[in-house]
Amino acid sequence: MSCTLIEHGYVVPVSTNTVIEDGAVAFEGSRIIYVGSSAGFDRQRHKPDRVIDARGRAVLPGLVNTHTHLVGAYMKGLTEDVGGGGDAVGLYKFGFPVVCSLRPEDFYSGCMTHALEMLMTGTTTISNTWMHENRVGPVFRDLGVRGVLSEWIVGTDLLKLSARNMERPWNPTEVERRLEAAQELYETWHGKADGRITTRISPAGPGYLSAEGIEKSRDLAIKQGVGINIHIAEVPGETEFVMKRYGKRPMELGRELGILTPQTIGFHCVYLSDSDIDIMVETGMNLSHTAFHTPKRGYFPPMDKAYAKGVSVSFGSDWCSNDLWKFMRAGIEIPRVMTGDVGIVTAYDALRTATLGGARALGMENEIGSLEVGKKADIILVDMTTPWCRPIRLQNFITNLVFNANGSDVTDVFVDGHQVVAGREVKTVDQHAVMRECQERAERVWSKVLGG
Ligand SMILES: [Zn+2]
Repeated sequence: MSCTLIEHGYVVPVSTNTVIEDGAVAFEGSRIIYVGSSAGFDRQRHKPDRVIDARGRAVLPGLVNTHTHLVGAYMKGLTEDVGGGGDAVGLYKFGFPVVCSLRPEDFYSGCMTHALEMLMTGTTTISNTWMHENRVGPVFRDLGVRGVLSEWIVGTDLLKLSARNMERPWNPTEVERRLEAAQELYETWHGKADGRITTRISPAGPGYLSAEGIEKSRDLAIKQGVGINIHIAEVPGETEFVMKRYGKRPMELGRELGILTPQTIGFHCVYLSDSDIDIMVETGMNLSHTAFHTPKRGYFPPMDKAYAKGVSVSFGSDWCSNDLWKFMRAGIEIPRVMTGDVGIVTAYDALRTATLGGARALGMENEIGSLEVGKKADIILVDMTTPWCRPIRLQNFITNLVFNANGSDVTDVFVDGHQVVAGREVKTVDQHAVMRECQERAERVWSKVLGG
């Protein structure tokens, strides 16, 4: 089995809050066999076929994004500056109309563009949710990223939604179609590409899907033995709708329907009462915190309370911006502004959330999320020779890294032991051709839906 040695870097294992100066990581096949000092690696015993000099660079586990809609590439820039009093008006006015008008052949280059952004900025595991997920499988396969696919089980017309609309005509036929698609997705993609690709089930939240539809989705997840994703307590108007319809809050309804478990990831979870947070802790569900996304719309979860009570937190990008370095910083700074407490989330906490937090949420904590012997070789190298990261003091290395390095400083990326980015160039697909095609398709979609 071929052995790769990455040496002379600043190794940040993340499993502990430490940095190994002049550190090394080695892997054989897809598994890490060594994490320690460069001098301590036994070259006689392992005989590396390939040696990478990581001098001046940080060596980290790949980042984990627990919630995205790759197809949202076509929404880039459309909704972020659209006001409307924090009621997500841009999403309903421009976002859904654009993504709902895409042709099947638009998916590949759009999804690949968002996935390229993630991979090139250091995300090695992407958990995606949208309708027609079978169109996304080839993107993960071709790019070489670790991918989680989940069919979005939606039971109402997205184009008729708004924060103030309290009517939801449910469409059971559409739910059945989506459930069938979810089963087909599982059969086609679960465990494929050397196990890099897996699937989950994504019942849309109680604002998009009837209680019956959520229960059917839950049953399918149990049958397949996979985890559940759910948009919950996500947008303005959802709590009001659920209260009107069921006489309880979204989290209360979710608990009653049996979909909140340690295998569940709740997306966004913004509108949380104290008792909602208690439910999250009691059920052991995980929060995908979209820290750089929801502030664009003027809202943010009460993270001080979520952290204080011990909610399991990971980062999700949702769409439009998918560089998790932005999410780490927003995830640190916004709660500080909201509470005045600078100690509430540290750089190390944010880095742990972006790696081990995501691994734990996806049930992959024994495989990814940190640099440890026996784990998968999902590894990124980050340039620390830039003026924005210099000078370096070892004792404050992680703080410097998280506050000052950018996604574009990621130079090399390994997934499952394969090098997929080298010197900032993607090795698996032609990134320039993908972006050219995406641009052409976006222009067609935008002129059709938004006008000139
Ligand atoms: Zn979402």
